[in-house]
Amino acid sequence: MTRIATPEGTKAVLNRYPFVFQKKFGQNFLIDPHVLDKIINAAEITKEDCVIEIGPGIGSVTQALIDNAGKVISIEIDDQLIPILTEQFGGCENFRLIHKDVLKVDLHKLIAEESPNRRIKVVANLPYYITTPIIMMLLEHNLPIESITVMVQKEVADRMASGPGSKQYGAITVAMKYYCDTYLVANVPQNCFMPRPNVDSAVIKLTLHQESIVDINDEEQLLKIIKAAFSQRRKTLLNTLASNGNLGLSKEEIKNILDESGIGASTRGETLSLDDYAMLSNYIDNYRK
Ligand code: SAM
Repeated sequence: MTRIATPEGTKAVLNRYPFVFQKKFGQNFLIDPHVLDKIINAAEITKEDCVIEIGPGIGSVTQALIDNAGKVISIEIDDQLIPILTEQFGGCENFRLIHKDVLKVDLHKLIAEESPNRRIKVVANLPYYITTPIIMMLLEHNLPIESITVMVQKEVADRMASGPGSKQYGAITVAMKYYCDTYLVANVPQNCFMPRPNVDSAVIKLTLHQESIVDINDEEQLLKIIKAAFSQRRKTLLNTLASNGNLGLSKEEIKNILDESGIGASTRGETLSLDDYAMLSNYIDNYRK
């Protein structure tokens, strides 16, 4: 079969079916085979792997996954794409297509059914309108995932890989550090897609920590503190935690905790590292005792 991830390959598929691009689903199909090779190599896909693909589109990435992986489960929301994918790949024994919004799929159940003994790899050229909710859903639900190799907006990739004090540093950066190592695989210009998006993209690989890298008593509280700390960037940690933290503590108590822990009540959330947040969260637990 000719490669779909080329301008000619994509046009050939689109000419064969009555497909209309849906802007609301963030449809920008990959038409560069070199970028596709980089994704597959970075994800280190082998015949031992079960891969979940989010948003297969017309199958540009799916085709390479089917060739390289033991099993491929692709989850697609758009009705129009289901017959296109079924006709092209329905005959492949290692392929399963799920017609659903990925945010509504019970991934625990799916993984238990499809890959009970092996951790899975996620590969996707993500729809940009829900990149962060998808990545956070994959990270927060304690799923048996080994790595997530995804195409995202360049700006999102920069934010994920930034450090304390930089303009891009945000709640997502700190949360990401808690869950995984982030590696920038490649920058991808707009002309690698059909239709062209308005922004540049990047492929990142997230390798999930198999064990927590910080010593933390209460994960839920840690994430709550991180989200609250970045909820109003210009405000001090004291004000953001007091107004948005839902920690069940008075402003006076939060001030004492920040001062006594050495962080300081006038500090801003954007200057703290993951280790600082973990220390603060544990300090709050001890203060309550
Ligand atoms: N993988 C294809 C490629 O690289 O050419 C398509 C990538 S395109 C950026 C994003 C894909 O995600 C589209 O096929 C779109 O219909 C699908 N999609 C959008 N929202 C979705 C959702 N909530 N659940 C599952 N798929 C979704």
